[in-house]
Amino acid sequence: MKKVLLGLGGLLVLLVAVIVVRAYLAGTDTQVAEVDMPLSITVDAQAAAERLGEAIQFKTISSQQTADDPDSVDYTAFVDFRNWLAATYPGFHATAEREVVGGYSLLFTWKGSDPSLDPILLMSHIDVVPVIPGTEDYWEEDAFSGKVSDGFIWGRGTIDTKGSLIAMVEATELLMAAGYTPKRTIMFAFGHDEEVGGPRGNVAIANLMKERGTRFYWVADEGGVVSDGLLPGVDGLAAMIGVAEKGYVTLELTAHAKGGHSSMPPKKTAIGRLVTAIDRLQRTPFIPKIDGATEQMVDAITGPSPFRSRLIMANRWLLDDVLISALSVSPTSDAQMRTTIAPTIIDGGSKENVLPPIATAKVNFRIHSRDSIADVVAHVKEAVDDPQVDVEIFNDAREPSFVSDTDTDGYSMLSDAIVASFDAQLIAPYLVVGGTDSRHYSEVADDIYRFIPIVMGKNDMARFHGTNERITVDNMGRAVEFYGRLLEAAGNK
Ligand SMILES: [Zn+2]
Repeated sequence: MKKVLLGLGGLLVLLVAVIVVRAYLAGTDTQVAEVDMPLSITVDAQAAAERLGEAIQFKTISSQQTADDPDSVDYTAFVDFRNWLAATYPGFHATAEREVVGGYSLLFTWKGSDPSLDPILLMSHIDVVPVIPGTEDYWEEDAFSGKVSDGFIWGRGTIDTKGSLIAMVEATELLMAAGYTPKRTIMFAFGHDEEVGGPRGNVAIANLMKERGTRFYWVADEGGVVSDGLLPGVDGLAAMIGVAEKGYVTLELTAHAKGGHSSMPPKKTAIGRLVTAIDRLQRTPFIPKIDGATEQMVDAITGPSPFRSRLIMANRWLLDDVLISALSVSPTSDAQMRTTIAPTIIDGGSKENVLPPIATAKVNFRIHSRDSIADVVAHVKEAVDDPQVDVEIFNDAREPSFVSDTDTDGYSMLSDAIVASFDAQLIAPYLVVGGTDSRHYSEVADDIYRFIPIVMGKNDMARFHGTNERITVDNMGRAVEFYGRLLEAAGNK
């Protein structure tokens, strides 16, 4: 007996030793490699900032009206912006061919010297979300002032995403002026209706590419940012590159029951059934897993994480469930691991003493890469398990995107350009939970990466689609350098 216990004790010691050693070794791999990524242009951050400030002044807003009745919208600001862009960047417009698609979206083609190479596509969007009504006075500078002061450029679109649009064009203008010609064709797509899903902009451009038989080597669109303290336990700047995008579906649940007077109610009313259905659904979450883009993210952040987190992350062979439980606590990391369930609208009844014959709820799902729309419908029907509750797809649903490879030229050039321009300590791929226009290119691109060269700290998250949107002048300079490095490398590879 004693021998057995000693043997077990020995095994336990060994196990703990393995766990600690693995965590220790993972921690020795914390630095990103030095990169040698030359930049042959000289960037004037202040001048670039002033031009971004001018771009911000065009009220290129996508509102609810744009979604509901796009033909009734006044697009003057979009035409003015297009004309301003042409006047401000004459070299860019002289060298890259411009096509106007869907009335107001812009597609530029900078022809490479080797037409046998598939082009790359850089994306951004011209439209911005409106200022939330009633919050105008909370802005320290007017939302469309584009004011450059105290080291900041202020206004709607600085982050999302005129900042990256202007940075791309600035860098290209400078490269062209320096006499640089890419071997590989570089294209730019600037949508005008991204904030309402891109139906007339990038959907149309992607269709055009399909018709022409264009296939992209890789595509880069908005998505991740350069995080300054957003990743718990990771010091210094860390960049997140979206390699996949979740799908989207809203289901309408309709519960049926006998209507009538509320003085003699049946055991189960329509509202009662509906509430039970939602409760059952929320008690049946999708199973969380660490795989695909999320697994790549965990692998990338393991090394730079504090020792305690590393103990778990470096030992997933034994502690995967512990890590999943830990990541489930925060809605942000939970959403990386599974399809999420969010009841958003509930409707039923119109008079306090009348039983409604039906009650409805809308539930929004963001579909993880491993699931499909059909999986979601099946999951909900099984969880609700009530023939008196109908489950139907409410509106345009979309499947999750494919997961892009990280072992590619495109991903490594993006990573290197980030490290060289921002001195980032960590680059991690991840799963984008929102939607971007790049999803429309899934049939014409080998890989799609989602990243904007904007530094975001904890206090900046609320500026995104919110109040006091701004970026620093220094950031703008680095963003131009980032695209300069990226384009110089990408054009030659
Ligand atoms: Zn955006």
